[in-house]
Amino acid sequence: MTTVIDQAERDRRALRHPEKANRPDNPVLRKPDWIRVKAPMGREYSQTETIVREHGLHTVCEEAGCPNIGECWTHRHATMMIMGDTCTRACAFCNVKTGLPGALDGGEPDRVAEAVAKLGLKHVVVTSVDRDDLPDGGAKHFAETIQAIRRQSPGTTVEVLTPDFLRKPGSIEIVMEARPDVFNHNLETVPRLYLNVRPGARYFVSLRLLERAKELVPDGFTKSGLMVGLGESREEIMQVMDDLRAAGVDYLTIGQYLQPTRKHAPLDRFWSPDEFKALEATARAKGFQMVSASPLTRSSYHADSDFAQLKAARTRA
Ligand code: SF4
Repeated sequence: MTTVIDQAERDRRALRHPEKANRPDNPVLRKPDWIRVKAPMGREYSQTETIVREHGLHTVCEEAGCPNIGECWTHRHATMMIMGDTCTRACAFCNVKTGLPGALDGGEPDRVAEAVAKLGLKHVVVTSVDRDDLPDGGAKHFAETIQAIRRQSPGTTVEVLTPDFLRKPGSIEIVMEARPDVFNHNLETVPRLYLNVRPGARYFVSLRLLERAKELVPDGFTKSGLMVGLGESREEIMQVMDDLRAAGVDYLTIGQYLQPTRKHAPLDRFWSPDEFKALEATARAKGFQMVSASPLTRSSYHADSDFAQLKAARTRA
């Protein structure tokens, strides 16, 4: 009986991450007390789930196994993941399914916009899987989604969290022409760890993407995020902060890496809440207008209230 369950679990993993199936197992460490989250439940949570399902949408909240889903969905905050549920990259930290995705769904931008209106979101985060198979990496689909949200909910601010559009010239220009309120692209980790953690990405391409977004819309906001716990040092994180400031990035998020399965990148250690506070203080001293750093911080966690604070900070400045 046990053998059957183990085999089923192996099959399920192989199906979701075929490229990781033959990797050695890395033990998953027990979470410390400060990483405890509410179980997903309640009427508001179910309403959010119903709206997502009715519109045939994917969310990064579910696909990445985000620990904050109980809290966020109770507040009707769901982060839409467009262009399917299958990613063409194979990052070692990420739980999103990998493989060859299907064709783009031309009705998706309008369905995202309808769901945003039904959820009553004042600020929405739209992200996507990597679509290296598309000539523009999905830039036009991002732009169409921004435009559809603006048509249906003109008062809603839109934040996009995009892939790096590696080897897709002209893509960032297409996205920025649609004028997202916030352009977000995560560096995820320090450059030394890119080969293991983001093997398909290049640190300086990601950094340049953020810089280019700011050049194209200088009064827009740019944002990036890092995970800690993959083996990086504090000094390396400080260097990344300096690089991001040099690229004009306004807002930095830092959260704890949580290893999704035994086949993913091994967790080096849990950073303590006090260490996160110290990182936040350092980042603020380096000039970021907004910083969110805590074990459970994710790119889109509290993105609505953080965006309000970001705008207020710029006004004060
Ligand atoms: S933090 Fe972001 S990804 Fe996670 S549940 Fe909340 S909205 Fe979704």
